Amino acid sequence: MSTPIEQAADILSKAKSVVALTGAGISVESGIPPFRGKGGLWEKMDPMEVAHIDAFMENPKRVWDLLIKDMKTVLDKARPNAGHTGLVELEELGRMKTVITQNVDGLHQVAGSSDVIEFHGNFAWQRCLDCGQSMPTGQVDLAQSPPQCSCGGILRPDCIFFGEMIPTEALVRSQQVSADCDVMLVVGTSAMVQPSASMPFIAKDNGADVIEINPEPTPLTGRISNLHLMGRAAGLMPKLVAAVRQRLHPS
Ligand code: NAD
Ligand code: ZN
Repeated sequence: MSTPIEQAADILSKAKSVVALTGAGISVESGIPPFRGKGGLWEKMDPMEVAHIDAFMENPKRVWDLLIKDMKTVLDKARPNAGHTGLVELEELGRMKTVITQNVDGLHQVAGSSDVIEFHGNFAWQRCLDCGQSMPTGQVDLAQSPPQCSCGGILRPDCIFFGEMIPTEALVRSQQVSADCDVMLVVGTSAMVQPSASMPFIAKDNGADVIEINPEPTPLTGRISNLHLMGRAAGLMPKLVAAVRQRLHPS
């Protein structure tokens, strides 16, 4: 009986078009805590109090002080890990087409993935609520809270808060690539946040195999996913890539 990694490598090496759906879990080993689960941010605070657009509009200073400043400090330091680079290697092997990510950390692009759909926007930029001008997050002066644009308007991250719409283009393209892929690799997402959690369902409905990498089972496990590689992304991905490479280029 072959191992789940071997079975996943068999499927991936025969695939023509693989799409990855990634969540906060793939960036955990880059030092960015997830929201849900052990060590997650929501153990410490209520998402609706700090990450809802109404909470931000009501008191931007509070949300900057409780959430956004810490996010900036953590994300400024984060570098891609073997989970991110593994997806790039699958692309180099001619398998991976598109990465749909719920993350706002930009690490897939830094690692070198060429087609990344950012479902929830990107934290690398801040936007002025008044004039709409954008500024790199790295250049924001944190001495003032909430930070301001040169016009005096308040800055907000260019990613979405709870209660905001998914950018239409990201949603439509994600649905398209999910319907068109023959394998979906779901890495480090609890699959609880809609509508991103619907992408594996779309893939499955259109005949794709769904492979999960996650240390924990999710609502997809055993129902939508054919295979669950149980473990951390940075640990498993290099093994999976090596097994795919071995099948495509036996030495
Ligand atoms: P989540 O926080 O709901 O779930 C994280 C999942 O990752 C869990 O299922 C957990 O078991 C799994 N996980 C934990 N460690 C892992 C590891 N080392 N390897 C693989 N999997 C691991 O995350 P979510 O489903 O992405 O949804 C939360 C929302 O919060 C997302 O929409 C995202 O935008 C946002 N978020 C983003 C970041 C980031 O940009 N890095 C970080 C936190 C939250
Ligand atoms: Zn402005």
